[in-house]
Amino acid sequence: MKHIVRILDIQQVTHNVKSFRIEKPSGYTFIPGQATDVSVNKPGWEKEKRPFTFTSLNEYPYLEFTIKRYESHNGVTNQIHQLKEGDELVIRDIWGAIEYKGPGYFIAGGAGITPFIAILRQLHKDGRLNDNKLIFSNKTAIDIIYETELTAMLGGNVLNILSEENSGEYMHGRIDADFIKKEITDFKKHFYVCGPDKMITDVSGILTGMGASADAVVFEK
Ligand SMILES: Cc1cc2nc3c(=O)[nH]c(=O)nc-3n(C[C@H](O)[C@H](O)[C@H](O)COP(=O)(O)OP(=O)(O)OC[C@H]3O[C@@H](n4cnc5c(N)ncnc54)[C@H](O)[C@@H]3O)c2cc1C
Repeated sequence: MKHIVRILDIQQVTHNVKSFRIEKPSGYTFIPGQATDVSVNKPGWEKEKRPFTFTSLNEYPYLEFTIKRYESHNGVTNQIHQLKEGDELVIRDIWGAIEYKGPGYFIAGGAGITPFIAILRQLHKDGRLNDNKLIFSNKTAIDIIYETELTAMLGGNVLNILSEENSGEYMHGRIDADFIKKEITDFKKHFYVCGPDKMITDVSGILTGMGASADAVVFEK
């Protein structure tokens, strides 16, 4: 089912990520981590659908998406980033991406953090975040989405690793086998992995080799 919804508020989150608060159709509820297919309600773009995850919680009076722009693709994210408050999006049925099944490790690359935002916000609100750890990989520090909020929620249980910046302030490198063996202590816990396909393949392979199985979603090709 299609819903045409107005954008209520837009915030710049990082240099290439914005959050969009939009109208919520009545009765529109989702499980944190779920997504919907979104298009821009402008001539020529209504049928160009791309999946985006809700970063809001059901109790909020609006829906929120947090969207990274791929300017060079000249696609939907580039269009969405040019929209203003009052412009319209088309949203559709809700479908599953990744769902919380119990305490564990959230491993995210770039915009792959978005399903975890809703899950972590909900766990934080419910006082159930304690036993979870976030490993968040980005190219540089300015790419880290919602860094302040994630640190406030998770405290010492968030670990940022940067692949293209070595300032001493953050861990430097990639999420490889050595990193996983060093940072992960309990392979019986749940693993939630979301990010570019190369990262998913690498991390899932390493985890499988350690006897763990991960719920994984590919976000970027
Ligand atoms: C379940 C799910 C949930 C998601 N949730 C979110 C979310 O909440 N937030 C978020 O930011 N992202 C999210 N994503 C990723 C998001 O869907 C993609 O970033 C988005 O589809 C990109 O759309 P686009 O039209 O801008 O670019 P694309 O569809 O990637 O590309 C448009 C066109 O550009 C060209 N192109 C492709 N790659 C390149 C390239 N490297 N260089 C130049 N041209 C290229 C191709 O012709 C392509 O057809 C999610 C993905 C999934 C699977």
